[in-house]
Amino acid sequence: MRASNKGLKNLTNIVECPGCGKPKLMHHLCKHCYRNLRLRIRAELKEEVDNKEKERIKENLRIKEELRIKKESQGVRGEEGGEGVREVREVGR
Ligand SMILES: [Zn+2]
Repeated sequence: MRASNKGLKNLTNIVECPGCGKPKLMHHLCKHCYRNLRLRIRAELKEEVDNKEKERIKENLRIKEELRIKKESQGVRGEEGGEGVREVREVGR
């Protein structure tokens, strides 16, 4: 057999993971625990981003509402501006 002297040897450094009980390499991170941790961190990050997005949308709505109130309080001037634009359009025809 070709290179039979390089054959793989059986692993002897396999231990039970103290976290989940599945077999893992000694002195190595358990892949099952690592996967769970990664998924949890990803979910938490996503939640954080979603919360920030919600906050941003709320802030935008608040600013829009403030602008609307401001416009309403200056209502007469705003309507005049609109008519002015209409007049310009009529002149343009
Ligand atoms: Zn584990």
